[in-house]
Amino acid sequence: MKIPFVTFLPMEKELNNGIRDAFDRIFTRSWYIEGVEDEAFEKAFAEYCGTEYCIGVGNGLDALMLALKALGIGEGDEVIVPSNTYIATALAVTYVGASPVFIEPDIRTFNINPELIEAAITDRTKVIMPVHLYGQACDMDPIMEIAHHYNLFVVEDCAQAHGATYKGKKVGTFGDAAGFSFYPGKNLGALGDAGAAVTNDKELADKIRALGNYGSDCKYHHIYKGNNSRLDELQAAFLSAKLPHLERMNEERRRIAQMYTEGIRNPKVITPYVIPNCVPVWHIYGIRCKDRDALEKHLNEKGIGTNKHYPIPIHLQECYKDLKIQKGALPVAEKISDTELSLPMFYGMTDEEIKYVIKVINEF
Ligand SMILES: *Cc1c(COP(=O)(O)O)cnc(C)c1O
Repeated sequence: MKIPFVTFLPMEKELNNGIRDAFDRIFTRSWYIEGVEDEAFEKAFAEYCGTEYCIGVGNGLDALMLALKALGIGEGDEVIVPSNTYIATALAVTYVGASPVFIEPDIRTFNINPELIEAAITDRTKVIMPVHLYGQACDMDPIMEIAHHYNLFVVEDCAQAHGATYKGKKVGTFGDAAGFSFYPGKNLGALGDAGAAVTNDKELADKIRALGNYGSDCKYHHIYKGNNSRLDELQAAFLSAKLPHLERMNEERRRIAQMYTEGIRNPKVITPYVIPNCVPVWHIYGIRCKDRDALEKHLNEKGIGTNKHYPIPIHLQECYKDLKIQKGALPVAEKISDTELSLPMFYGMTDEEIKYVIKVINEF
């Protein structure tokens, strides 16, 4: 049996008419930037998240970067980020001129370990950026407590966690602002690059919007040296066609994850841990195995696609050489890089396919 790591085909087959209608609507209207589709999607997505404001932007990295910029973060400031995340989290900090300070994750959840945050706070620390990695919420209570105590901003990276909840509350509603990515492979994906920032703060929302629109609050009037990062009408319309199906599709991912967790019985494999009161959306189903590379080879030889999130931790990336963080300095992130393996996870995966993946893992 051949099972890809990810495919959009079953979803696209189902949503085909809605997507084509969206395209026809825009093409007939012939209006492509800053229009009714963007406005409608922003309204719908804010409602979905449970926030007052949503600002459509060009991609997830820009959503994070613009949120930091709008909060006034820049040179000389420190931003606390997890050592185990996609590089965009750290790059958002670097792009505004601030310095990322890496905090190790809890090896069980892969997410930032709140117990390690306080020791890293200095008088230059301005923001905590929790990342709800692989679709599971971070342990937000202690994180918010620390943020309040030290008067720090919180910017959530929700790029992998559309709809995930912590104690019944959706991610993106805890901090001052949050960034979402609609990269095609994300749980809610556009047909190209797209992203959004959400917040309950009107002033912040206005500033994020202006910064992503040439620093302009009205046409040809520029109050900031902004950049160009807007959600275009086509992508907004595609996202509006998909959003009503997100909950159902997340539910389907939870079903796949549950089958994996119940079915994988190989003592060499550690299945992911879900913290109590969390409902994850399983952007990634990541197992850990000491013989990860051999397990990956075994799966690939049996026709099963896999991936690693992420094979090189950020502090060991060439581009962050200047931080001078040696190998061994962040051992938990490095251990995850060395042992994590992501299994196929996509809407439309059949029971037969899920069972085959389980069987092949248990045979290893
Ligand atoms: C995908 C991702 C981003 C960046 O989103 P883009 O839309 O690709 O710019 C940021 N953070 C995390 C954790 C991501 O997975």
